Amino acid sequence: THFGFETVSEEEKGGKVYQVFESVAKKYDVMNDMMSLGIHRVWKDLLLWKMHPFPGTQLLDVAGGTGDIAFRFLNYVQAQHQRKQKRQLRAQQNLSWEEIAKKYQNEEDSLGGSHVMICDINKEMLKIGKQKACAGGYKAGLDWVLGDAEELPFDDDKFDVYTIAFGIRNVTHIDRALQEAHRVLKPGGRFLCLEFSQVNNPLVSRLYDVYSFQVIPVLGEIIAGDWKSYQYLVESIRQFPPQEEFKEMIEDAGFQKVTYENLTSGIVAIHSGFKL
Ligand code: SAM
Repeated sequence: THFGFETVSEEEKGGKVYQVFESVAKKYDVMNDMMSLGIHRVWKDLLLWKMHPFPGTQLLDVAGGTGDIAFRFLNYVQAQHQRKQKRQLRAQQNLSWEEIAKKYQNEEDSLGGSHVMICDINKEMLKIGKQKACAGGYKAGLDWVLGDAEELPFDDDKFDVYTIAFGIRNVTHIDRALQEAHRVLKPGGRFLCLEFSQVNNPLVSRLYDVYSFQVIPVLGEIIAGDWKSYQYLVESIRQFPPQEEFKEMIEDAGFQKVTYENLTSGIVAIHSGFKL
């Protein structure tokens, strides 16, 4: 199988990917902002809008790393739930503002029962994520689990939504990860994947090539002192299957109504599928 510019055995790939993320963990967020010029934030917001979680949603975010999808999910469900509660309270007209304020003191209440399980194979990435959760005041509605996307430590039919953002291309056997996603989702559950994809505009494609191969490893060296890891990231993006091929892989895992949406000329795509 591939690892960056090298060909390595399947057994070796997992270990090498682990080393990359162990090495980049501390600088991961800064590098994401630098490399994508902040656009990764918009892509992640769009993933949440597409998900549009209903109150009580049980989300599994695989390769959840430093918590970017999880925190967005909690913000989204909290805002949605509070809007609904306020509308209901106003309609009832018989609660004082003190009583309304009291209702929002309990963070668990304000999530409407929604919960996110963040699963990642890398201890260092999870450590940074937990630190961010503390700093951001995220206490309720989330849990962190060390685990492999190819062998998820969860029972069957457990989650409403499964997300994986910029994670699946790092997995050695993508087909196994997709089968696991299918297994842990409840019937009716949704699979959503945000991943780099194939650029569909020739001009953007040319600029993107220069940027990826000539700028990103240099930024990696300057900011994180780690040329090789960022070279791997660029190359792993190139080796990931294009939109249609990935769609077929998702279908092969048993998902139905599989669709995808290109963002920023296909630099990334969101694939969606349902377990029906
Ligand atoms: N989802 C986060 C985001 O969008 O910012 C992190 C993405 S980061 C590029 C990729 C993550 O995938 C890393 O945290 C890495 O540890 C994780 N990862 C790689 N292989 C994995 C596997 N087999 N199972 C679970 N996580 C894995």
